[in-house]
Amino acid sequence: MTEGDPGSGASAAGPRVGETVERFELERAWLVDPVSGREGPGEIVVTDGILESVVWLEGDEAAGVTDAGVVVAPGLFDLHAHFREPGFEDAETVATGSAAAAHGGFTTVALMPNTSPAADDPSVVERIRSAARASGSPVEVLVYGAVSAGRAGEQLSAMGELADAGVLGYSDDGAPVRTAGLLRSALLYAGMLGLPIVEHAEDPELTAGAEANEGYVASVLGLAGWPTAGEVNAVARDLAVLADALGDQPAARLHLTHVSTAAALDLVRRARAAGLPVTCDVTPHHLAFTDEWLAGARRWAWEALGADGSPRDPWADGVLTAVPYNTSLRVNPPLRTAADAAACLAALIDGTADAVATDHAPHTVVDKEVEFGQAASGISGIETALGILLSLVDAGRLPLARAVAALTTGPASVAAASARTAGMPAARPRGLIEGAPADLVVFDRSDNWRVATESLRSRGKNSPLIGRELPGRVLVTIASGRLAYADPDAGSE
Ligand SMILES: [Zn+2]
Repeated sequence: MTEGDPGSGASAAGPRVGETVERFELERAWLVDPVSGREGPGEIVVTDGILESVVWLEGDEAAGVTDAGVVVAPGLFDLHAHFREPGFEDAETVATGSAAAAHGGFTTVALMPNTSPAADDPSVVERIRSAARASGSPVEVLVYGAVSAGRAGEQLSAMGELADAGVLGYSDDGAPVRTAGLLRSALLYAGMLGLPIVEHAEDPELTAGAEANEGYVASVLGLAGWPTAGEVNAVARDLAVLADALGDQPAARLHLTHVSTAAALDLVRRARAAGLPVTCDVTPHHLAFTDEWLAGARRWAWEALGADGSPRDPWADGVLTAVPYNTSLRVNPPLRTAADAAACLAALIDGTADAVATDHAPHTVVDKEVEFGQAASGISGIETALGILLSLVDAGRLPLARAVAALTTGPASVAAASARTAGMPAARPRGLIEGAPADLVVFDRSDNWRVATESLRSRGKNSPLIGRELPGRVLVTIASGRLAYADPDAGSE
């Protein structure tokens, strides 16, 4: 690649995906280093896969370089993704998911164990790892083990063996840990092993048959309501059980994933203030979309908030531009109100939410082209996460540095919070660190890209953003010194 031309990596002379990046230089870009807390004009040089130099420019040399153009950040880390292998390869494979991750700027992904069979014993973990090696992608694939055998919620999985196999933690995601008693046992055992429990907080008694966030939009659309209490109740249970378990096992750690309501985030905020070892993440879709999208609105969540902090009325505002009941919007937890989305953003900014995790949930067309309430839950989101966060930055709602941290040092800090994961590469400092293997993403904030079924590398085309443009085209992703993604069109436009 030639100097100052980040796109030339796609040329015939550049490395191919999986190959070591022998030489990559970028002049006069905007560097964001969430470890040092520094951002500004700079230059980087990668040699033989190593980030050889990071130079911060000053004075005349820095003139004209702003954060509105080409940005270099550490490779992104997704704490929550579904690559569907083994068992659901029609929806995604480890190879296609890794390609999608790299296109989205991610160099590390943590995969949920709700495969078939579930990752409840080391042989399944090894199958996933072997698929990752065979893919040729340098994206680092981490795996969670199931909390319960078969994710059935009855008895604990082979947690000790899974720990020996190197899982990042345990989750029954797709569903909560079924009972408080099982959760308590899991927190004790996982704590002893130095690993966290990653919880999908949902009270299934309150959400049985639910289709959409309970409230005005669901009522007008005639969809069965999914109450806020379905999440708040579960988070309250989880925090109470954690507080109790800590008495017996001080190393117990809980991570709440895809928290989506203002009330549940308030519980987490208070628990953290009281010193409970709990971390949490929010998703791009809960930050950016609201339940009014089910009715056909397509304005961002922050545009749907009234001056008094309550959600605006999409019918009164005349903003219903898309066909209603689009099943790509069916997700668990459901899209909430604009006030809940604002609470997710506030939690991200004040640190109550440690990270943004995509909950990338690809599905086949067959599983989505059904009645709304019958559709599989999930959004194919790993390729649009960065663009959504950059849309928040463009709107002046989120500082660029915080957006980058939420996808780099934030997830790494969650990994660093448990004794065993703290020693894993996942918890390494996610900065622009000279002398370390190059692990970075280069994106152009001045260049939009169009989300389309053809542009998504994921097999899951279930994105409500299909047909829409997002800012921040990813030009190059380098993972552990190897090429993970290069924009095929860069330099040709
Ligand atoms: Zn979940």
